[in-house]
Amino acid sequence: MQLLNPCRLPVVDAFIRCYAKPLNELFPDCDTTITFSPLTEQDNQYRDIIVRLNKTIYLSDKEIGALGLTDPELFAAIAHELGHILYHTHPWAYDAEERADGLAAELGLGTQMINVIEKIIYCRRFRHITSALVKRIQYLSHLA
Ligand SMILES: [Zn+2]
Repeated sequence: MQLLNPCRLPVVDAFIRCYAKPLNELFPDCDTTITFSPLTEQDNQYRDIIVRLNKTIYLSDKEIGALGLTDPELFAAIAHELGHILYHTHPWAYDAEERADGLAAELGLGTQMINVIEKIIYCRRFRHITSALVKRIQYLSHLA
């Protein structure tokens, strides 16, 4: 697998330094190329924090700051998005989010992933999915 960071986002550089090797050990036969890109304010009408389109992961500096994510928490969020790509999760599968969270846990970022989900719950912007978010925390707590 190749992780590309053409815009040299510092936090993505740090993620690649720490996790490219363990990821390639977990997925030795994977030849997927995944690209990271900034999500600018003008392209982010839904105020997404981190979003995935095919094999590109977009990060909004502004929304990451607004949610107060630390770098290790952002690593967990990146691992989650990579999990969707690498496990080929189906968008409507009942366990798609849990499987993606599972990759964060595999990389030792389970606690940080729980923190991310808690911050998403407490910001109250995603109230309609609170029960699904709580379920993810319960699942991650069992993995830890
Ligand atoms: Zn997800």
